[in-house]
Amino acid sequence: MKKEPIYIVGPCAAESEEQVLSTAQAIRQAMPDTRLIYRAGLWKPRTSPDTFQGVGETGLKWLQAVTEQTGMPCATEVATPEQVRAAWDAQIPYLWIGARTSANPIAVQEIAAQISQMSAEHQTCQAVLIKNPVNADAALWLGNIQRLENTGAEVIAVHRGCNHQPCWEMARQIRQARPDIRILLDPSHMSGQAAAVPSLCRKAQELSYDGLMVESHIAPEKALSDSKQQITPADFKWIIERLEQTGKRQDANDLVWLRAIMDETDDKLWQVIAERMHISRQIGTWKKANGMDIIQPERYQDILQQRLKWAEKNGIDKQTVTAIMDALHTESIKQQA
Ligand code: PEP
Ligand code: MN
Repeated sequence: MKKEPIYIVGPCAAESEEQVLSTAQAIRQAMPDTRLIYRAGLWKPRTSPDTFQGVGETGLKWLQAVTEQTGMPCATEVATPEQVRAAWDAQIPYLWIGARTSANPIAVQEIAAQISQMSAEHQTCQAVLIKNPVNADAALWLGNIQRLENTGAEVIAVHRGCNHQPCWEMARQIRQARPDIRILLDPSHMSGQAAAVPSLCRKAQELSYDGLMVESHIAPEKALSDSKQQITPADFKWIIERLEQTGKRQDANDLVWLRAIMDETDDKLWQVIAERMHISRQIGTWKKANGMDIIQPERYQDILQQRLKWAEKNGIDKQTVTAIMDALHTESIKQQA
């Protein structure tokens, strides 16, 4: 990590004054000497309208109280120009744009216009953070960085992955295109699971990220949103202590990125193999119910021939493809039996 790492930590959402302040105090007490920014979403972009939608403007004064009581500056998510104005008027120094908003360049442009207007009226905010869009679109993420840079504010990219996959290739493209800007990793939304947060934080360090944005709640199991992925303040402290023991890293070379991308590809490959076996079991049940033999040599020859043509097109050795298909077929037969 280049300069001092940026750690943004706090609950997914502000739920009540008590929850906001007790979480902030627990974080501050756990790590009194670390520079931290406190996060909490007020306007929550939720999938279903039947779930908790956030407390809205009411929470702004709770965030102000966090800064007064703990000294931590605050960050909140904005999705509309009105939310930018409200957060700005409450002097919230860090604003972030979420993955759903980031997928819509018109919305980002409207937010950027509001930031420009407000900076012209008075002092600019500390920084605007832009998450990657929900779809793995490096070009759109780069475009959004540019839209926000035109406001004059510092822009920080936040990599939160897509559909609970890291999409390292997308982040590598951003890193290559913009070595000058800071990139943080959000392991909470990237994985959706508290148990995966420590290893993703480690990965961020290996890949020379400039910091982390992590969801932490005083009582994760009671959280009104994203409860499975939030960690306690004590767990966050444990993670950071371990990262700091390793110390600063030099810039990650491309091999580190390529290995991360390779591991993610293998994860997908094995997921697909598991799906293939699941389908095989269903086919096995159908064959049994209909009195058909499990082994159908003609069908296998058809599949193999299709794959051999595919191998030629993709520059993969035919013997390798035959060996892989034979192994898959043998296992499928076992699963069907
Ligand atoms: C969040 O940070 O709480 C959030 C909604 O994140 P994302 O936009 O990455 O889903
Ligand atoms: Mn969240």
